[in-house]
Amino acid sequence: MPTESTLILVKPDGVATGHIGDVITRLERRRFSIDALKVVHATPAELRQHYAQLVDKPYYPDVEEFMLEGPLVAIVASGVDVIESFRKMTGPTNPQDALPGTIRGDFGRAWDLGAIRNVVHSSDSPASAKREIKIWFPDFKG
Ligand code: ADP
Repeated sequence: MPTESTLILVKPDGVATGHIGDVITRLERRRFSIDALKVVHATPAELRQHYAQLVDKPYYPDVEEFMLEGPLVAIVASGVDVIESFRKMTGPTNPQDALPGTIRGDFGRAWDLGAIRNVVHSSDSPASAKREIKIWFPDFKG
């Protein structure tokens, strides 16, 4: 299997609750490499690009508000099968469905109102990874 890259965001809830290090540690434990990393305040335009498939959903305004709450950490990580492996390490969208041992299962919050606050984003396919890396790291050469 070839080496590939993925785009990870530690979302504002993950930054605010002190889990930047946990996400990085989990990548390092699996020997994935970290090729780019920055702290960034997202803009509404970046978020509309990033969540292009969600902008028409009724909950999109909540997602945008949540993602603008504070800084996030954007990471490009690479390794063999990193996209699928890291999606497994992330767990399902709703932290209530995520098993202990996954990032969302360990650090996510039960969903009550507004956006689902689930600590991290990670690309779901090679095509998404390529598209998302361009949004957050326009100068990145993979
Ligand atoms: P994932 O992040 O697991 O790939 P999606 O791409 O479907 O999930 O959704 C993007 C993000 O939007 C989710 O991680 C979550 O923060 C939020 N979200 C998704 N579905 C809902 C929903 N029904 N209500 C509120 N927020 C949602």
